Amino acid sequence: MTSSFPHQNGTVPFWRLEPQGLDNFRSTPNLPDESDIVIIGGGYSAAALVTHIQKQYPNHPSILVLEARQLCSGASGRNGGHIKPDPYLHASEIAAEYGLAAGAEVADFEVANLNAAKEYIEREGVDCDFVVTRACDVHFSSSQDTRIKERLRNLKAAGVAAAQTVSEVGEDHAEIVSGVKGAKGCISYSAAHLWPYKLIHHMFTMALKHGSLNLQTNTCATSVLRATDAQFGWVIETNRGPVKAGKVIVASNSYTPALLPEYREQIIPYRAVSCHIETPSPAPLLVNTYALRFKDWDFDYLIPRPDGSIVVGGARSAYFREKGLWYNNTDDSEVIEETRKYFDGYMQRHFRGWENSGAKVSEIWTGIMGYSRDKLPRLGPIPGKPGMFIMAGWTGHGMPQIFLAAKGMAGMVVKDVPYHETGLPRVFEETADRLRNAPNKVLESWYQATQFPRL
Ligand SMILES: Cc1cc2nc3c(=O)[nH]c(=O)nc-3n(C[C@H](O)[C@H](O)[C@H](O)COP(=O)(O)OP(=O)(O)OC[C@H]3O[C@@H](n4cnc5c(N)ncnc54)[C@H](O)[C@@H]3O)c2cc1C
Repeated sequence: MTSSFPHQNGTVPFWRLEPQGLDNFRSTPNLPDESDIVIIGGGYSAAALVTHIQKQYPNHPSILVLEARQLCSGASGRNGGHIKPDPYLHASEIAAEYGLAAGAEVADFEVANLNAAKEYIEREGVDCDFVVTRACDVHFSSSQDTRIKERLRNLKAAGVAAAQTVSEVGEDHAEIVSGVKGAKGCISYSAAHLWPYKLIHHMFTMALKHGSLNLQTNTCATSVLRATDAQFGWVIETNRGPVKAGKVIVASNSYTPALLPEYREQIIPYRAVSCHIETPSPAPLLVNTYALRFKDWDFDYLIPRPDGSIVVGGARSAYFREKGLWYNNTDDSEVIEETRKYFDGYMQRHFRGWENSGAKVSEIWTGIMGYSRDKLPRLGPIPGKPGMFIMAGWTGHGMPQIFLAAKGMAGMVVKDVPYHETGLPRVFEETADRLRNAPNKVLESWYQATQFPRL
């Protein structure tokens, strides 16, 4: 399997069991001939971008959203439902490579995203099961716990604001405090969980009411070509005919390489699995969300739902070694078989008090993450393509980044605001240098994890 356009028969995630009204919506029966702004993709990125454009620029030009399948049927409709700003781990890696200020920017940006999304959801009264909680990152070896906490302490000592909100629990109390069997230490900080599909549906519903948006689902952009027209610099070919566009925003995340060949091996489709677990009667209450970090590359992410059920994803140890099962793989039509066994009895195995809960997987599904080659999102104008922008490459971590990324993108798209004036983290900017020289950290992690020699 190589990267391709979205598969027409994706597995059905728990979040999409009861599709809402816009799932197959088309604002007009025919595809418009032209639009000032065309956004390719109908997930959280597109929803947030339209929302911010409409709010910041009331007299903005026309917007057309093209979605290849149903609305929010990509990663945004298939994820773990976790908004988990990372205040220390990725930040310390970024600080080591790009300098402390760059790491601090990303950590603070993610915390600000959580607050901004919370503010939006509360102001709008969005019915999306949004709950603010503590994220609990659990370590299973003392050496891993020591190593990671050292990185956290360094950021705290350096004055990184986001890191100051993080608290540590040592080995003596880790298992009781976290509720996770075999915990050798844990770290906690503010996060949230929600029903992402409902949030995104709400955003599109409001955007359509505003009147400036034309939404076309089941419309796949198959190529983007330069046009000679002074007003409409691009022509987007679709399965329903061409559309002329003044500006194009590529928000197709993991599917971007199929549309733009220069993104092959830059944004890497990465197949992932999540599942929904239910119990026959109420099980012990989990008040935290979790990352169970077995190894640096092997971790699961878990949220408790307000109805007492669980959504958990990861299971990398079950399939990561077999590269073809996940790398450059856009097939979300089948569950990776190896993961079914992995999630069987998961809560009983890992959580204290759940042994006799009868917890069972009720739905399991596949989704495609868009891993950026250097593990950093890609935002802003695409070098060498005037009027074309990228908003993708979230590397499995878009939920605490997309809302405010869209705010910055809105200024770049509508008013040509330069990237450095948007307030977005500097390391997220798309550049010619990144496109040419970024190392493939996705493969590097795989070589390290599987102990294969580097090629
Ligand atoms: C299993 C799984 C679990 C995850 N868990 C979490 C989590 O708990 N927390 C977190 O922060 N992140 C998580 N993620 C990542 C997160 O879901 C993504 O970062 C985020 O949803 C990206 O949003 P997006 O709108 O950019 O992409 P998407 O939601 O993938 O939207 C892109 C859309 O573009 C459409 N499209 C693609 N190509 C074309 C085309 N040529 N023409 C028209 N339309 C096109 C697709 O159909 C899709 O709907 C997870 C991802 C997966 C797959």
